[in-house]
Amino acid sequence: MRVSSAFSRLLRLKGVWVRRVRFEPDRVVVEVALRRRRLVCPECGFSTPHRHDVRPVLSVWRHLDLGVWRLEIRAQLRRVSCPAHGVRTEGVPFARAGSGFTRDFEALVAWLATKTDKSTICRLVRVNWRTVGRIIERVTQDELDPDRLDELFEIGIDEVSWRKQHRYLTLVCDHQQGRVVWGTDGAGEKAADEFFGELGGKRSPQLRAISMDMGPGYAKSARKHAPQATICIDSYHAVALATKALDEVRRAYWNQSRALGDQQAARRFKDARWALLKNPENLTVKQAATYRKLKRAGGEVWRAYTLKEAFRAIFAPGLTLQDVTVLIDRFISRATRSRLHPFIRLAQTITKHRDGILAAIRLGITQGRTEALNNKVRLITRRAYGFHSPKATLALVLLTCGPINLTPPHELHLHP
Ligand SMILES: [Zn+2]
Repeated sequence: MRVSSAFSRLLRLKGVWVRRVRFEPDRVVVEVALRRRRLVCPECGFSTPHRHDVRPVLSVWRHLDLGVWRLEIRAQLRRVSCPAHGVRTEGVPFARAGSGFTRDFEALVAWLATKTDKSTICRLVRVNWRTVGRIIERVTQDELDPDRLDELFEIGIDEVSWRKQHRYLTLVCDHQQGRVVWGTDGAGEKAADEFFGELGGKRSPQLRAISMDMGPGYAKSARKHAPQATICIDSYHAVALATKALDEVRRAYWNQSRALGDQQAARRFKDARWALLKNPENLTVKQAATYRKLKRAGGEVWRAYTLKEAFRAIFAPGLTLQDVTVLIDRFISRATRSRLHPFIRLAQTITKHRDGILAAIRLGITQGRTEALNNKVRLITRRAYGFHSPKATLALVLLTCGPINLTPPHELHLHP
């Protein structure tokens, strides 16, 4: 077999034949030519037999490594004059428009990005993290199911921070499919308006329930664009508020002890932070010991703790709507009488959103699954911290939690 036909079979690049193969010190360079005579616009697929001209330089793409060798594809491309897009370099079947990587290479990077961390990918594939960001943006745009907004009935809308400095993404998830279907840069009413704008007046009336946090922004937009939908409060947002209230009580007590010169008590409550904030079943041995000490000491920190735990227990799986209603009302009156300021405030907030919290239970919006998806999204946005654009972060979220089927490149070739 000749070298060029051996490489043709090896590379499995669509629509080309191999002209030449050359070994350079750090890479293998394969020069290919397109089989098709017609020119195709890379943006819209417009095709014509007429060329505008030939690009004076070779186009270059990185392909999957060959053993330990870096593999580069080069081709002399022509330019096409598209009535819609003007003069453009012709599209090739094996790479996306504007990319310096083949589709197979991008499939590998996108698949890895959903499975492993930044330093592993960058070292294994030998590209930098920003390039990974651009690759996954392209893959997401290409692979995202355009019909994913058609069958939405119960959705959740939530924000997630994508960098440490208060930058937010708004994400919409489909509760029935348990996946993220839409996202944008920003938070609040404007971001939700953007979603409803894209959903459109035809599909918005299908929505039966929309779950969200207790802020005013998303609710306002939802009432405006989908007034028929029931607004539900995701209980984990309420539980997070209770945890915050507990932390306020603990901090106030700690500051007070310090001011009174009780150094030992002050240290005890500073160390107690995690013992109090974690769920009891997740405590380490040392935290469990601190926890027992706090319990023996009693006082307002312990009272705050039992209130928070009582609140969390309300949303345990398996309770009926009736159970939850009784428990919420009991919690509201207990917290109101607690003489703990943060919990009195919490009781007011819960009273205000009582209907929304109960609606989520009544409509069976599975809180466990919603929270799990939310945690997964948070983990992914943390991994995306090195990206400098919200688009790349969003792409990683949609790749990992959205309606996209990613496969490593060899599986793509199993089912051509
Ligand atoms: Zn075009």
